[in-house]
Amino acid sequence: MEPLELVADCARCSGLCCVAPAFARSADFALDKPAETPCPNLRTSVPGRTDAPCGIHTELLDRGFPGCVAFDCFGAGQRVSADWRDGPGAAREAFDAFAVLRPLHEILWYLTEPVPEADDGLRDEVTAAARRVAGLAEGSPAGVDVGAVRAEVGELLGRVSEAVRGSAGAPGHARADLVGRDLRSGRAARRPLAGTTLRAALLMGADLRGVDLGRADLLGADLRGADLRGTRLADTLFLTGPQVAAARGDATTTRPARVPRPAAWGPAAVSATRRR
Ligand code: SF4
Repeated sequence: MEPLELVADCARCSGLCCVAPAFARSADFALDKPAETPCPNLRTSVPGRTDAPCGIHTELLDRGFPGCVAFDCFGAGQRVSADWRDGPGAAREAFDAFAVLRPLHEILWYLTEPVPEADDGLRDEVTAAARRVAGLAEGSPAGVDVGAVRAEVGELLGRVSEAVRGSAGAPGHARADLVGRDLRSGRAARRPLAGTTLRAALLMGADLRGVDLGRADLLGADLRGADLRGTRLADTLFLTGPQVAAARGDATTTRPARVPRPAAWGPAAVSATRRR
């Protein structure tokens, strides 16, 4: 089985992420949009258009749509074969497939996190789980219990995290409310953040300038508006493109090589490095 693409290719998608979800007017999205309704800024609602799907894609931040900048379908959109513009039946098929494929592709992204070379058994488990999830993503979306897949893989990813961080049972900051906190030098957190867990932590607007987040587990951490200038993210765990796109970085911010560098950060001052 060929590995699935986990990078979005909007040119091969009918703009599903701009149609299928509902959006409430907020700091992330400047207007209310019902589910399964095209965003008024979407140009692919006009059949035959081949230019950029979003009519304001170069102005998303200025026009109040930062949530769109941070969104990533992890390559699910281009794998939906039905086209929602082809009538109600095709639309139903496309929306149902996207609702399953998008989370499965995100889970597959997490399963590509490198496992320590010494831990053959764990690496085999991750490889087997990736095959199972890819098999679900290749098959029919009907009957796929995404919640069950998340729970099963979540437990495995927890063990990957502990193996990489070497800190099973160590106290961390999972689900901590660190909104707007000054976390430089770990002052507000009272413990160094490198090698710790920040799973699902709320880090919106936190000041992480110059902080070493090496081997920190950032699965599900909310980094919207966090200041990551000069922050070391190069070997963080489970970091995604949407997380970094929602944060503020600069030329000295490092990130894992597999995570796209947001254009707003400018060119990297140093090469990104990997854990090994
Ligand atoms: S603003 Fe653009 S990117 Fe955002 S949902 Fe609308 S068309 Fe899509």
